[in-house]
Amino acid sequence: MRAIQLVKFGEPREALKYVELQDPTPGPGEAVVKIEAAGVCGRDLVVRKGAFPHVKPPVIPGHEGVGRVIDVGAGVEKDLVGMRVFLSAIYDGTCDYCRRGLENLCRNAELLGESRNGTYAEYVVIPARFVHPFHGVDPKVAVVATCPLATAVYALRQVDVEGKRVLIVGAGGTGVYIAQLARVRGAEVYVSTRSVEKAKVLKELGVKIAEDRDKDFDIVIDTVGSPTLEKSFKLAKRAGTIVVIGNVTGERASISPALIILRQLKVLGSMAFRPWDIYEALDLLKRGLIKPLYTEYRLENAPKAHEDMERGAVVGRAVLIP
Ligand SMILES: [Zn+2]
Ligand SMILES: [Zn+2]
Repeated sequence: MRAIQLVKFGEPREALKYVELQDPTPGPGEAVVKIEAAGVCGRDLVVRKGAFPHVKPPVIPGHEGVGRVIDVGAGVEKDLVGMRVFLSAIYDGTCDYCRRGLENLCRNAELLGESRNGTYAEYVVIPARFVHPFHGVDPKVAVVATCPLATAVYALRQVDVEGKRVLIVGAGGTGVYIAQLARVRGAEVYVSTRSVEKAKVLKELGVKIAEDRDKDFDIVIDTVGSPTLEKSFKLAKRAGTIVVIGNVTGERASISPALIILRQLKVLGSMAFRPWDIYEALDLLKRGLIKPLYTEYRLENAPKAHEDMERGAVVGRAVLIP
């Protein structure tokens, strides 16, 4: 099969190589999925730079994928073959977090594309429990649900934005969906972005672009991380809420504790999502409540997709087509 392999950490063209590998075969309990569309996550860029010690090249990157099941191993229902599915993170289902419905925080979670081969490929093999059938949404559009929109769904379960003045910091692959979903949930939504092109797209979706004078937000949702975090804290009103959901550079940030105390801020993290958040995201797309924004690349152009994302030139999700 054709695939993109992370051969070492570094810049896109040195790190990501287009290779020919053997087609995977399913072991007991596993399924092989022929990938129709794979998303490029901001996390993939951080992985490529070598910020996660558990990632050991060579490995095929990518955790966002939609495709069809083409083969299953022993002990898996044969009915699954031929079904269109999305893939989810792998969790044990038995730890204390999983038992409380917090599978996103599983103690033994595994993410495709990090500790095992992922979706930047023609085929991926995964335990069959983590392929989830769906229908009614085009695969390229569905990729948007598998991570960015599901992240938005889960993040907006942590805060009630209805009637609130909400600032989304960053209009990357996730920011554009949180902005849209916050509007659906009844917020007055501002986005801060330096991209003229992204600003234009967002304005067409009814989102306001934050100017320097705009401050005192009830809720600030930061999708960027260390480069913007301190400013995000300053843009929240007293007793306001900060939600931190992205750290695109993987770097540290320094915040004065006084900022949190004197403004009496609530600081929340929101970590990814559960499979059923993806089903809710698919439903939002099906009902036309969220506009799917994505840019297509051929699989072999994954390094270019990474480069374009790094310079903030991709509107919505970069989607790889094998
Ligand atoms: Zn992702
Ligand atoms: Zn668990």
